[in-house]
Amino acid sequence: MVTIPKQDLYEILGVGRKAPLDEIKRAFRSKARLLHPDNKESGDEQAFKDLAAAYEVLSDERKRSLYDRYGHDGLSGGQTGFEGFDLSGFSDLADIFNHFFGTGMGSRRSRSAAERGADLKLELTLEFTEAIFGTDKKVTVMHLERCTTCDGSGAAAGSKPVTCSTCGGQGQVQQTTATFLGHFTQVLTCPNCRGEGKRIETPCQACRGQTQLRKSREIELTVPPGIDSGVRLRIPGAGDEGRRGGPAGDVYVILKVKEHKFFQREGRTIHLKQPISFSLAALGGDIMVPSLEGETILKVPAGTQSGATITLKGLGTPYLDNPIRRGDQVVHLVVETPERLSAEEKNLFRKLAELRGEKLKVDPHEGGGQSGAGTRRKSSRSEKMSSSIIDKITDVFKPRDDSSSD
Ligand SMILES: [Zn+2]
Ligand SMILES: [Zn+2]
Repeated sequence: MVTIPKQDLYEILGVGRKAPLDEIKRAFRSKARLLHPDNKESGDEQAFKDLAAAYEVLSDERKRSLYDRYGHDGLSGGQTGFEGFDLSGFSDLADIFNHFFGTGMGSRRSRSAAERGADLKLELTLEFTEAIFGTDKKVTVMHLERCTTCDGSGAAAGSKPVTCSTCGGQGQVQQTTATFLGHFTQVLTCPNCRGEGKRIETPCQACRGQTQLRKSREIELTVPPGIDSGVRLRIPGAGDEGRRGGPAGDVYVILKVKEHKFFQREGRTIHLKQPISFSLAALGGDIMVPSLEGETILKVPAGTQSGATITLKGLGTPYLDNPIRRGDQVVHLVVETPERLSAEEKNLFRKLAELRGEKLKVDPHEGGGQSGAGTRRKSSRSEKMSSSIIDKITDVFKPRDDSSSD
């Protein structure tokens, strides 16, 4: 059932309310040719259906007068007894078009028309670094190929396809339909041979007369550097083989990229979370951090706060269009507060706190003042002593081997 568009039906056709039938017909014909989906420039399936529906009403004297008197309500059934109209008997728009115009734009597949093979889709999962640097992969495609047993004829050995008796080998049949506009002849694909013009009496056992078989094929695929999840790579001609000399379809490989243990990717930037020790954060120094190119030295400045970032230029993901150019690696430093201190370590921290004038407890008589910060550097007592304590602390909390690798 075609629904009647909400819009004014005269407006859809671009004619006045008093327009005679032949003007309505002319308007419909010129608009239909523009809007038919086969028209690559201006085709519009929905607009074409709306146009057909408007025409169906306005070209029918009874329906038109109902519409003129009652508007859309007049067409919606009920009291007026109008049952609507039905275009659902037509298999597609080409049929609707043929219904109005006989034959023409609604092009039918002719008997020997080449048919392109179908495109196929498959998914491929890549390792994190494969996506970044590119890789060569082998993918397995299950596609339709010509059956080698019957050499694509579909007929069993010793037999041949015979001419279809329904269409006499034409692949098409004509059908005349009586419509409100008169008799129209439609050209339909022959239902007996499905447009082939030939019928296979004794089908090939291997392909059951289908002329093609699904086979597995391994294909080399080059994944360029800088690819990310969701990217589609096309392998031209690797899809189903065409029929009757038509070209093969393509294969689309949809890429998925695995997560990495340390790295997180954001476009061309690689993020790394790097824990650093308390002493390193305070004193600064060098550590080894992982990068896409292997371990690299990271210079941590003195007084680094937890959450600070350091950018390693050019150690990110290559640009897809220019793999020489690369994004950056951003190292996010997380200062780790030492846990499970030994007695000696505790002592050193207490001394350090004392040295910095930090109070580790609130004195109720002083009122909850700032601990430490406000009273920092209240004395300059013995610079020598302070440096020796810091050296000791540094020694105890020196970044251990395990904090520099992974
Ligand atoms: Zn076969
Ligand atoms: Zn036929």
